[in-house]
Amino acid sequence: MPDDSSGPRRQTGFRTQLSHGGRAGTRAHGFVNLPVHRGSTVLFANCADRLASSSRRFDQALTYGTQGGPNHHALEDMVAMIEGGSRCQIVGTGLAAVTVPLLAYLANGDHALLPDSVYGPARSFADTQLSRMGVSVTYYDPCIDEAGMAALIQPNTKVVYTESPGSHSFEVQDVPAIARAAHARGAKVLMDNTWGIHHFQPFQHGVDVSIQALTKYVVGHSDVLLGSITVNTAEDWHAIRSTAHGHGHFASPDDCWLALRGARTMAVRLKAQEEAGIAVARWLRDRPEVLKVLHPALPGAPGHELWKRDFTGACSLFGVVFRPEYTVESSHAFVDALTLFGIGASWGGYESLALPTTGNINRTATSPDLGGPAVRLHIGLEDVGDIIADIENALDALRRG
Ligand SMILES: *Cc1c(COP(=O)(O)O)cnc(C)c1O
Repeated sequence: MPDDSSGPRRQTGFRTQLSHGGRAGTRAHGFVNLPVHRGSTVLFANCADRLASSSRRFDQALTYGTQGGPNHHALEDMVAMIEGGSRCQIVGTGLAAVTVPLLAYLANGDHALLPDSVYGPARSFADTQLSRMGVSVTYYDPCIDEAGMAALIQPNTKVVYTESPGSHSFEVQDVPAIARAAHARGAKVLMDNTWGIHHFQPFQHGVDVSIQALTKYVVGHSDVLLGSITVNTAEDWHAIRSTAHGHGHFASPDDCWLALRGARTMAVRLKAQEEAGIAVARWLRDRPEVLKVLHPALPGAPGHELWKRDFTGACSLFGVVFRPEYTVESSHAFVDALTLFGIGASWGGYESLALPTTGNINRTATSPDLGGPAVRLHIGLEDVGDIIADIENALDALRRG
């Protein structure tokens, strides 16, 4: 975080950090917010300055447009603070934040372990691009323990990837145990921490590289795509920064500006959406049409004990599985009957979304069968009473099939 000129620093709370991070300080003369700095060419006073700048590729230095400018640096500081890491690389999408670390640590002949519940496009990347590079991939049961992970690691395993909870099926992983097994055998631990933003501090649980789709809660308004890769050591920073830069990754300063604006209010949005999500999840759990609710913060839900141990809260994305007597078609009728929920991918915005998941999830190490037709819900900032009334009404459509 840049120095705040307002006086002596003490340990501040999350809301204070989001309000004050990535800006010049309360006594700096000027507008509250940094303007957007657009640019490719950077000019230097003389040849010596220009030559000296080439050694600053790993710093927050203004050297050329692709290296980023003030808007990137401000967002980097903000995300590094949220994730509890030392340095952060911003890339153009969450998916790029997934692929860059895989490319940074894997080469021809290497092996990678990915959870069976990994984000779908990450799985496609592994099956196509990594495979084409000559990297072998094994998908593992996301609920694996330390001994199970130790048994899967081969001499050429360079990466153990984690994502907790898992996409669509919401398995909570024992990340510290997996990290212990990986580190004992020299593998890097990567984590897609998008669901757990703020509530899971990756570097306190053995993660080496933390991935965020900033597209979700940081941006928070469903209008920008952006990703971040955060590390906590100079060695990892070197690997990530040089790979991102070497592949030509870049994010627009306008998008960084919008993401920094989103971050200012993220704590209150996360809190409101957490509460609304749990209220809706509880209401659904007690409905006769529902087999189970896949929400790690719900007592009794799968993964709840690990969630309680490692997370300080939850976001508002979870799954609902209907009883097996309902058909997949009737779950589609349920989604179609919702009026406050959009039907679409992504999440973390201010608005509620619903997505049928049955038949859309790819699993090879575990069963894709959740016990009945499933729907993924993202709870937005609407009034909880209105959301529950909307769902109650849509359950009529489920029962009618
Ligand atoms: C959305 C998402 C991504 C990818 O983010 P994009 O910005 O849409 O590319 C990666 N991981 C998870 C878990 C996601 O939900």
